[in-house]
Amino acid sequence: MSFSNLTGNERSRHVLQRLLDRGRIGGTMIFAGPEGVGKRQFALMFAKSANCLKPGPAGVFANDCCDQCSNCRRIDSATFGDVTTIQPDGQFIKIAQTRAIAEDVYYRPREGRQKFYIIDRAEALREEAANSLLKTLEEPPPTSTIILITSRPDSLLQTIRSRSQRLNFTPLTIPQMEKFLNQHYPRPAEDNALLARITEGRIGQATAFDLSVYRQQRKSLIEILDLIASGDNRYRLIKAAEYLGKKERDEFEKDLELLARLMRDMLLLASGAQPDAIVNLDAADRLQPLAIKIGLDRLIIWIEKFNQLRSNLRVNINRQIATEAAFLHLAGKV
Ligand SMILES: [Zn+2]
Repeated sequence: MSFSNLTGNERSRHVLQRLLDRGRIGGTMIFAGPEGVGKRQFALMFAKSANCLKPGPAGVFANDCCDQCSNCRRIDSATFGDVTTIQPDGQFIKIAQTRAIAEDVYYRPREGRQKFYIIDRAEALREEAANSLLKTLEEPPPTSTIILITSRPDSLLQTIRSRSQRLNFTPLTIPQMEKFLNQHYPRPAEDNALLARITEGRIGQATAFDLSVYRQQRKSLIEILDLIASGDNRYRLIKAAEYLGKKERDEFEKDLELLARLMRDMLLLASGAQPDAIVNLDAADRLQPLAIKIGLDRLIIWIEKFNQLRSNLRVNINRQIATEAAFLHLAGKV
């Protein structure tokens, strides 16, 4: 990946390109923004452009990496000696890890022009470890660049924040994301449209997302909603609640989130909203008639009751009983 073939976060791209143009790439930076919006990708592209053997103009960028030379390829495969990525060892980034940076940072680059230390999940820096880095962060040599990647920039020590240049990263808009996916991940446009909506423009999540699992799960949840709408089969309703309630907590919460999204989509479909607003547009042929079957008024009540259920379930230990009670209630059985 290079600067010119990435989409979104224009401001950050231009800031990084300006630094490359001026040759002022040493120092400490914070890349802040939610998970999955491309912060790591940007850090690697910056490191590649600074070390590329054939950097050159591409698109509007004067100093983009070639993405082909041995340095670019080795940075991509994490085998380049001058680009080091540090991740939490367990829950935290430990002092031994930060000491290793503090010692290494003053040596000249071994194989490239600029050394990079990319500290992933920098919010996991404990105070002691962070303190051991302060001097390094304050004044890294010009041939070293330290990038702190974090979704919680406010949790970093104020002394670190004040010494770093901060770049903010945001999710792509849905049309930007669709365009990007269609260019780089050839699959049916309908699939990319769905992925862009489900992940709300977070590239990192979209690339690892399994759509077939999602569609399978969506199918069973739509059947459950249909069953509740019919309200005539108590036994099957209890079975459905059992099926959901038995899942691991994470999986269960994902299902609740998807159920909430399906109800919201049905409400939008039933009230004639713009197709752009509907996440599961590819399932409209199933959701539209179901929305009519449930009816707009009842759907609004369902969404309200369902929100209550979600907050109850966060504290309720017996998921199965709570789900069963909610389903029977929504179906008008109790
Ligand atoms: Zn290159």
